[in-house]
Amino acid sequence: MSHSIEENIKKIKQDIVNHCPSQAPSLIAVSKTKPVQYIRQAISAGQKDFGENKVQEALEKWPDLKKEHPALILHLIGPLQKNKVRKAIGLFDVIQTLDRPSLAEAIARIKEEENKNPQLYIQVNIGSEPQKSGILSHELHDFYDYCKGELKLAISGLMAIPPYGGDVRPYFKQMHRLKEQLALPYLSMGMSHDYMAAISEGATHIRVGSFIFGER
Ligand SMILES: *Cc1c(COP(=O)(O)O)cnc(C)c1O
Repeated sequence: MSHSIEENIKKIKQDIVNHCPSQAPSLIAVSKTKPVQYIRQAISAGQKDFGENKVQEALEKWPDLKKEHPALILHLIGPLQKNKVRKAIGLFDVIQTLDRPSLAEAIARIKEEENKNPQLYIQVNIGSEPQKSGILSHELHDFYDYCKGELKLAISGLMAIPPYGGDVRPYFKQMHRLKEQLALPYLSMGMSHDYMAAISEGATHIRVGSFIFGER
C-alpha cells in the first residue's frame, strides 16, 4: 500500500467535506480480516466508526479495544446467524444486517433478556440478486411494519450492497427513496469503489475497507 492508513482516512474525509457541505455522512472503516494493529492506527487518526462482517472475528479483535476506547461505534455489516445473536448484541452498537423475520424475532427476544439496545438497520436486497441476503424492496414495508408493530423493534436505518459492476446510481437513488418513504434517519451504502456516488445520493454512512486498510 502506497499511503498510510491515516492518509487514506484523511482523503476520504476530504472527499466527504468537498461533496457534502450540508450533512456529512459518517465514515465506517471496515476492518474485516485486518489485524488489531491496523485498527489502532485508524483510531489514532481519529476514526470512530468501524465495521466487521463476522461475529467470531470481531469477538477476537474488539472487546479490549472497546474497553480502551468507549466512544468507538462498532457496526455489524455481515450476515448474522440466530445462534450468534446474543454475542452480537453484547458487542456491536449497530446491527446493519437485519435481513429476515426469524432474525428479527430472535433479536427482539434476546435484546430484552440481555437488556441491550443496539441500533438496527434493515438490509435491502436492492438488486433482487438471488445470491444476496436482504429484504426485497417490494417486501420492505411489510417487513418494517412487522418489526415495528409486532416485535416492537426500533428500526434506525437501511443498508444495501448494490449489484457489482455497472451503474450503481439507480440503486442508490432507489435506496434513498425507500429511506424517505419510511422516514428513517440512516442509510448505509457505498464501499471503496463507489463511495463517491453513494455520498452524492444521500448515504448517511459509507463503509470503506480496502481503500483504507489495503486489499484483502
Ligand atoms: C467488506 C465490506 C465492505 C467494504 O468493502 P471495500 O470494497 O473493501 O471497501 C462494505 N460493506 C460490506 C457489507 C462489506 O462486507
